[in-house]
Amino acid sequence: MVKICCIGAGYVGGPTMAVIALKCPKIEVVVVDISVPRITAWNSDTLPIYEPGLDDVVKQCRGKNLFFSTDVEKHVHEADIVFVSVNTPTKTRGLGAGKAADLTYWESAARMIADVSKSDKIVVEKSTVPVKTAEAIEKILTHNSKGINFQILSNPEFLAEGTAIDDLFKPDRVLIGGRETPGGQKAIQALKDVYAHWVPEANIITTNLWSAELSKLAANAFLAQRISSVNAMSALCEATGANVSQVAYAVGKDSRIGPKFLNASVGFGGSCFQKDILNLVYICECNGLPEVAEYWKQVIKINDYQKSRFVNRVVASMFNTVSNKKVAILGFAFKKDTGDTRETPAIDVCKGLVGDNAKLSIYDPQVQEDQIQRDLSMKKFDWDHPLHLQPMSPTSVKQQVSVTMDAYGATKDAHAVCILTEWDEFKTLDFQKIYDNMQKPAFVFDGRNVVNAEKLREIGFIVYSIGKPLDA
Ligand code: NAD
Repeated sequence: MVKICCIGAGYVGGPTMAVIALKCPKIEVVVVDISVPRITAWNSDTLPIYEPGLDDVVKQCRGKNLFFSTDVEKHVHEADIVFVSVNTPTKTRGLGAGKAADLTYWESAARMIADVSKSDKIVVEKSTVPVKTAEAIEKILTHNSKGINFQILSNPEFLAEGTAIDDLFKPDRVLIGGRETPGGQKAIQALKDVYAHWVPEANIITTNLWSAELSKLAANAFLAQRISSVNAMSALCEATGANVSQVAYAVGKDSRIGPKFLNASVGFGGSCFQKDILNLVYICECNGLPEVAEYWKQVIKINDYQKSRFVNRVVASMFNTVSNKKVAILGFAFKKDTGDTRETPAIDVCKGLVGDNAKLSIYDPQVQEDQIQRDLSMKKFDWDHPLHLQPMSPTSVKQQVSVTMDAYGATKDAHAVCILTEWDEFKTLDFQKIYDNMQKPAFVFDGRNVVNAEKLREIGFIVYSIGKPLDA
């Protein structure tokens, strides 16, 4: 029986391994992590992450061929294939701070693998890493091992939070990069054999290591660039009377462009897009390509601009002050169907509104109060940041921010509603009831274009939708 061990039981390690276990009943999969609370949660009825369909997959195979453990060394020692899915955040100090990927967790995982291995292993990069990381990992492994053969593969993950299980069941592609040596090719085949249990062969792409590593950064940069492109257009739409939904539809009808990922919004978030573009920028700078670096930086600059533009629109619309006014924030997660708040645009929008002394009342169906308080009081690394938003002190978070159990509580007595996440439940709220319980004039600022602005105007709201004419 092939044994797989995955180091890192996070948003990627947990769901990807659960799906491998489900689709490959003859493979034993153990997901290990140094975080005791995370592993305890994976072994309980309340999983550590919210992801539609995940509970079901875990329930079907946990205890049969899927296990979660904190005994990292034991399970790495026993595995034939070791996936490494640890976090690779942006460095916050020293060389490359604010842009380069922090590979501390990766390096310590690699050193541990070298230390505990007594048999040959395939080591798979699942984390998103800078191009050429495999070379560094090879050095660490070969210099620290005792005659053991390690084959390094790059197998970046393309799942999107909120649709992770569907994405894993039916991936657009599985990408495997490896050395062009006989050993490298054998390792590629071994990993292909795992995915071949459910992924059609045509969807499994094999490349050299550097192409696979760079493809992941490139894919995230392209996706984020698409959002920044449509968001840049949304500003122009508002200035000219065009409607961004109509423009996006017309543009997306071109088969060379396609309709997906063209929704204007308050900005992209999540743990990956900004981090991976910054990483790409750093790699370009290190390789003497400042113009290319500058090109990708603009994607993040537009994203920051979109968030500050939204805050300015709210304040300007409300007679240039939100001081002491209650503003309801609907949605805090960076997208619907996840409880993940990493780099969510809501953090910057909330800080911006509090900067103008607003009193915020926040509701998100999947984000708890302590998480929101932590996010708002966290220092954000100011790499080149036009918003210059300071972390809020715990006292001001307590005084100016409250978290409610539902949208009706959040909006009661509020002057304005800001929709920052596209949760489906926001589409079906009783807006008449909300309007009746709000201060007048009552404003809705729809940062995701989810509500029917026309209907809301009929009720009496003043509505602002991203990229749409104010009277449309
Ligand atoms: P995460 O922070 O949710 O999980 C990482 C886990 O690794 C944590 O639980 C941490 O405790 C554990 N860990 C760190 N060092 C360890 C060690 N030495 N031994 C054992 N466990 C250790 O991160 P994530 O969102 O799952 O992302 C993991 C990687 O996948 C990142 O490189 C990310 O860029 C990439 N990625 C993320 C997504 C996404 O949607 N979240 C999608 C594709 C790729």
